[in-house]
Amino acid sequence: MSRRYKQAQPRGQAELFPSRVEDYVDDDNPVRAIEAYINSLDMLKLGYANTSAKNTERGQPAYPPEALLKLYLYGYLNRVKSSRMLEKETKRNLEAIWLMEGLRPCYKTIANFRSKNKKALRKTHKEFILLCKSLSLFEGECIAIDGSFFKGCAGKHTYTTTSGLEKSIKKLDEHIDQWQKSLDKADKEDRNLSASDGTETLKEKLEQIEVLQKQKAAQEQELARLKSAGKTQESSTDPDARLLNKGTQKVSGYNVQIAVDSKHHIIVADNVTSDPNDLKQLHIMATEAKKVLNVESLSVVADGGYFNASEFYKCDKDNITPYVPEPSKRKNGRFNKEYFTYIDAQDIYLCPENNELKKSGKPRSQNNQNIQRYSASESSCKHCPLRSKCITEKSKSREIWRSEHEVLLEKHRVRMSASGDKMKLRKSLVEHPFGTLKDRAGWRHFLLRGRSKVEAEFSLMALGYNFSRVLKVIGLDELLSVLKGIASSRLYLKHSKLQYVKAIVAMRIIARIDSVAGWGLRSLRNTANMIVFHTARDSEYFHSLFTPPRLHSWHPFKTHPKFNPYISIDIIYPPTHGCTQGLH
Ligand code: SF4
Repeated sequence: MSRRYKQAQPRGQAELFPSRVEDYVDDDNPVRAIEAYINSLDMLKLGYANTSAKNTERGQPAYPPEALLKLYLYGYLNRVKSSRMLEKETKRNLEAIWLMEGLRPCYKTIANFRSKNKKALRKTHKEFILLCKSLSLFEGECIAIDGSFFKGCAGKHTYTTTSGLEKSIKKLDEHIDQWQKSLDKADKEDRNLSASDGTETLKEKLEQIEVLQKQKAAQEQELARLKSAGKTQESSTDPDARLLNKGTQKVSGYNVQIAVDSKHHIIVADNVTSDPNDLKQLHIMATEAKKVLNVESLSVVADGGYFNASEFYKCDKDNITPYVPEPSKRKNGRFNKEYFTYIDAQDIYLCPENNELKKSGKPRSQNNQNIQRYSASESSCKHCPLRSKCITEKSKSREIWRSEHEVLLEKHRVRMSASGDKMKLRKSLVEHPFGTLKDRAGWRHFLLRGRSKVEAEFSLMALGYNFSRVLKVIGLDELLSVLKGIASSRLYLKHSKLQYVKAIVAMRIIARIDSVAGWGLRSLRNTANMIVFHTARDSEYFHSLFTPPRLHSWHPFKTHPKFNPYISIDIIYPPTHGCTQGLH
């Protein structure tokens, strides 16, 4: 007999559920990767609160920071950000119950963990980026930079602006004047001011003036405070947030900057600013990414909002090559700067009509660079046949502004014309993380107030994004094996300064051997108390050198009595072989 719908199970029917929470979570469930990742972290070294060895003498013991971090990472991977919602998840969601091992912190504890561990959360994300690097997930040649507005925890009506205060003070002055005048008029007319004739009494008028004067004094004080702090606006709920405008977009919040590597679209660097535009962000973001990638030179692609000669100058000094399109300033089809030729020997510009534009006035500062004005003579522009294509009807002559870094800009223009598909690459690279963060994960606004807390919150968002990227790129099994390897080596070395010193000595020995044997060592570092070295040599070379029997005979820490036998070396093969292997 055919049935139209699936049959539901009666609620009263007895059922045997698995008796262990472990049985509800599959082996390929991503929460296992979260568990392994957080267990691989050295929470004390990262600076999390409540990680010291001391026991609580009074009150209830604290919740382990590892558990709270696991809960947050789980929440940020599953669109749950609010502490109240996370508290609910610890009671009804089997994955969260498994992850928390039955711990059920209240929402206040969960919220406090995020706001009290701002620096540690930032460090955790940086540590994850280093892990990605050790797994050869970065190309390290080209990055894309972009910024996006995220709403802050401040409504648009909460802002006080200097221009608003100035207007308000002016209005108050006018009101005070009006009241003064009405008092003077009454004085002259020698009128007996009384409430019975429908006008205010003398006492009421004086009181009104006093109130207005107090309001004015308070606003003047506020204006002076804002000006001395170098601010033009401030929100009463979040003093670090800002009203940001871009085209038709108006947001009260923060400008979030990210740098994305071209290989797997992983976020390499992030920053949260209150700057309303991206003009001063190119060098900051590019140098941060270069530092993380540990490369000699780097190409950077960004949109026209980053076009700033002084930033190009700083990038040029640090071996960073920017690819930024010049925003078009040609209005109503009139000639732009490209139509004018600069004559270096005479320090003049020649216009399309071969008339000279000479230096005029003093240089002025704009976006951290000096710019100089060059003007054509009024007489030459007055009867010029190309006038309508060059200047507006009201203008008397044409002006051109030249930056002190104009030579660099000319080189930049040549580079851009030969850049090919670089700008298409930018869109595919950097729009991906913001699209994923904002539309898939729904992270368009911050819950915390103040820049340092907002930075920590964004670190969690970026960590969530990068974590899901790595899971997708290398797979759960590979990630679990790497993370478990790190965690097991960390367990032996935890909290021992002597062992740390031994690790440093060991790293020096490896570097010395490399300089003699010529392995082509790319990076060597002590991560989570494990020595990781990344080499340019092919895997066959290392297989011949480090096959298990030879590894044991060579391994200085397992054979030499002076070294702790538990210090291990992790060899990560180059990306071309797609093989990541930990040897312990
Ligand atoms: S308007 Fe002036 S600057 Fe422009 S082309 Fe004519 S003469 Fe040259």
